[in-house]
Amino acid sequence: MSFQNPVFIPGPTNMPEVIRKACDMPTIDHRSPLFARIFRPALAGVREVLGMDPAAGEVLILPATGTGGWEAAITNTLSPGDRVLAARHGMFSQRWIDLCRAHGLDVQVIEAPWGEGCPIHAMGEALAADTGHRIRAVLATHNETATGVRSDIAGLRTAMDAARHPALLLVDGVSSIGSMPFEMVDWGIDVAVAGSQKGFMLPAGLAILGLSPRAVRAMDGANLRRAYFDLRDMLKGYAAGSYPYTPPVGLINGLATSVDMLRDEGLGNVYARHHRIAEGVRRAVAAWGLRVCAARPAVQSDTVTAVVAPEGFNGTDVVTLAASKYGVAFGVGLGEVAGKVFRIGHLGSLTDVMMLSGLATAEMCMADLGWPVAPGSGVAAAQEYYRATALEEARAAA
Ligand SMILES: *Cc1c(COP(=O)(O)O)cnc(C)c1O
Repeated sequence: MSFQNPVFIPGPTNMPEVIRKACDMPTIDHRSPLFARIFRPALAGVREVLGMDPAAGEVLILPATGTGGWEAAITNTLSPGDRVLAARHGMFSQRWIDLCRAHGLDVQVIEAPWGEGCPIHAMGEALAADTGHRIRAVLATHNETATGVRSDIAGLRTAMDAARHPALLLVDGVSSIGSMPFEMVDWGIDVAVAGSQKGFMLPAGLAILGLSPRAVRAMDGANLRRAYFDLRDMLKGYAAGSYPYTPPVGLINGLATSVDMLRDEGLGNVYARHHRIAEGVRRAVAAWGLRVCAARPAVQSDTVTAVVAPEGFNGTDVVTLAASKYGVAFGVGLGEVAGKVFRIGHLGSLTDVMMLSGLATAEMCMADLGWPVAPGSGVAAAQEYYRATALEEARAAA
């Protein structure tokens, strides 16, 4: 079996050769000026990807994964017993709620169907009803990786403003940042959480946080227990172009390369590429006679598609067979949709041609398993779409 196949899981994503090489660094003294030369451009690049103000707020890079980023986001801005408002509509929004509860926060949960986005209307009503402003933070998962659903964060901000509510807005952008439009300033986000192994195309190992000036101010009043992840220590180190402890230099060098790649392609083009590739996948799913888990086109994710298995079939079987027979990775269904879907990740370093190979593999597996899907049908639909839209892009570039 070849290990050269691309992966089609929604993280970790395929690593471009230049990024892999950038991560492979000889040892350097992380207290030397050389480290600052690597670190500062990485921070500046992340600022652009997050849609931050070039001069206000802070970017923090922690040796962790996205989950560590969640923990740092809440422990640095909240205190024990604080109320937070969160929607549950998938495994990742669920896990963030669990993490908040483990830290003694009082989580007010708004349920939404798995397949829907953050229920903005209900969130707005809860905020309007909270006249005493007990809710200190609103938690949202921009892209629910379990269901392939995007939420309208700008709309959530509008609802918070309409309720004149001062809560902080904390957003999990782990599977959207660097692949789908994300605008910290325009959407009034106070803390954005990303991880290195998704849109940034790096190995796992970095939690990437963007903090608004308000979130930075909230750090001093926040009393949740934190030590290693106390971002105030990080900021002191950063002021000197260094770290309070030993940084993962290779990953940070990789991050500097990653943000350069995103900037070279142009963020708008990166987002357009993800949208095109995703749209091809959705056309393939429709040609298979299947449906996606996302309830409506407006909530469809451009980084991951959860394909609903037909009655009597199990989505996990596709994933198991793809791995054992063809050496290709897809994602299984998680939580409430376990077995009901299989997931196709399509983010990061990906081309039309790579995507077509993934769709062809999924077709082989479904045919092997006796699913009522005609092999070639989805690939043909995606080919049609990619042929037509690639031409448009070439014309636009000319
Ligand atoms: C991948 C992911 C995470 C965190 O995952 P880690 O494995 O800790 O990096 C959090 N939220 C979403 C939406 C994700 O896709």
